[in-house]
Amino acid sequence: MPVSKPLSPAVAALADQGIRWVAITWVNHAGASLVKVVPLAAFDGAVAVGVGFSPVSDAFRADGAIDPAHRLARPDGDLRLRADAGALALLEPASGWAWAPGERFERTGEPYAGDQRHRCRLQQQQLQQAGVELRAGFELEWLVASAHSDGEPQPALPGGPYGADRLVDGLDYASALLDALEAAGIPWLQFHPEYGAGQFELSLASGTALEAADRLVHARLVIQRVTRRFGWHFGWRCSFSPKPSLERVGNGGHLHLSVQRAGQPQLQGGAGPGGLSDAGAGVVAALLAELPALLALACPLEISYRRLAPGSWSAPFQVWGIENREAALRLIPTAADGVPAHLELKVVDLAANPNLLLAAVQAVVLAGLEQTRPLPPPVGGDPAQLPAGAALRLPASLAEASSAFAASALLRQAFGDALHASLLDSQAAEVRRGAGRSDAELAAADAWWPLVGGLG
Ligand code: GLU
Ligand code: MG
Repeated sequence: MPVSKPLSPAVAALADQGIRWVAITWVNHAGASLVKVVPLAAFDGAVAVGVGFSPVSDAFRADGAIDPAHRLARPDGDLRLRADAGALALLEPASGWAWAPGERFERTGEPYAGDQRHRCRLQQQQLQQAGVELRAGFELEWLVASAHSDGEPQPALPGGPYGADRLVDGLDYASALLDALEAAGIPWLQFHPEYGAGQFELSLASGTALEAADRLVHARLVIQRVTRRFGWHFGWRCSFSPKPSLERVGNGGHLHLSVQRAGQPQLQGGAGPGGLSDAGAGVVAALLAELPALLALACPLEISYRRLAPGSWSAPFQVWGIENREAALRLIPTAADGVPAHLELKVVDLAANPNLLLAAVQAVVLAGLEQTRPLPPPVGGDPAQLPAGAALRLPASLAEASSAFAASALLRQAFGDALHASLLDSQAAEVRRGAGRSDAELAAADAWWPLVGGLG
């Protein structure tokens, strides 16, 4: 009879807390979190050996269909998704659930070169080797809505932008949500009713690139769960779609970044605009130059580009500014608040795979530190009001952003040829999915993202 192995201390502690199941997730090229669940007693095995996941899952489109032209649309081959024991966390402890992110490995035991979180880890290691520490944190915006008979999301809670009235009208929802986030151990900074009807926002605490990406995935699951559980009787769901409806403001997933080298904050303490140091100016210049290519990862759906309209604080211009909410890159000099100055990448939406985005951003930051280049002056005020041509519009379609991604030698090198090429296939699949659809059809198709396929 096989002797069962003793549980690792972390798993034994969870068992004592009443945890019974672990959801192991990873995020595919299309930005969907995919999952396999194991009993807690099998978790140590899921760390050491992994659970099966076919490489075809990266050929899934944003609606779940497999794109036949994708290079990974093959029936053969298999990988093992190994849970990251160091990132094991609670999901809904009162119901016996824990959660862990995973990375995929070849059957030989080698890391799978196409794995998104592995790539983010490699870039994080490269930065560490160069003495650089990047801290990142996401803001999540979402709509709480019920479905109208035509499927259109109907905002579920009354109250105006940033309105305390919306907070108190939905106070039981807010309490349930914050309670669940804390029970899951997700550190958060701020929560508020956002500008759009029925829209809320949560800012997550910053961490390493891997921690920031994991927190986004973890928090999104908790928000989905609480909205559904709390709003069950009213038919509520949450939508993280970049543009759940053409008539309303979109949902962003703004990314905040700070950079330190040898313990010194790099975005402050200099004579440049906003107090930028030379190294900091290099970082901003590199991010600015790579923005069109980064957009293919930051805004990966065709509907993402309907959100990126001037005047909606989604910042669709290739400019940087100091505290300017219409600049794609916003420098926030916060030395006066006692925290390092940071950058906000405003274009990002929540369909982005956070591991891919942060892998790319880390590569660009490192390139900016190593090779400084001239930084154009910051833009004050609304770039849309500048004389024509003074502020470049960022790509207005995924096809355009994907061309920039294809042409980026820096990102090709950061991802490696195979992953870069398979990402281009996924972008092409999304462009084909959107082709011939009106804006309204596009918005309707993804209105309930990340619920792939809508409400069914
Ligand atoms: N909802 C806006 C967006 O689509 C952002 C609003 C804000 O500045 O927080 O990104
Ligand atoms: Mg916001």
